[in-house]
Amino acid sequence: MNELSWSAIKRLVHERARGCCEYCQTSEDNSGQTMQVDHIDPSGDDVLNNLCLACWNCNNHKHKATVVLDSDTGEGVPLFNPRTQIWHEHFEWTDGAARVRGLTPVGRATVARLKMNRPPIVVARMRWAAGGHHPPK
Ligand SMILES: [Zn+2]
Repeated sequence: MNELSWSAIKRLVHERARGCCEYCQTSEDNSGQTMQVDHIDPSGDDVLNNLCLACWNCNNHKHKATVVLDSDTGEGVPLFNPRTQIWHEHFEWTDGAARVRGLTPVGRATVARLKMNRPPIVVARMRWAAGGHHPPK
């Protein structure tokens, strides 16, 4: 078996995501912060299909969650899975790409849980967009 080292896995995850958080789409080049490798299912394995690139804020607020309670229905809603779901089907940019809006229960739950529209990141996105560096293509 051709087992990859953790550093090789991290490099592949980073390249696959083109240096952008796979939840909020913040790019490493804009934020200047080193992205982290998130286990989509925290109890899952260190395999590429269970890993994604995440910024510190998304990774920290997601923590070990995979499902969150919908405040409207009280039902459990799975968080967005970057490996099995398509970002633009669950999220869209609003306010000149300053804010992320959830389009589906999954999108709304993920925006809320990961606090994707914290005031400092909204201001940063406005500045990146004004400079032509946001949203990512
Ligand atoms: Zn993020």
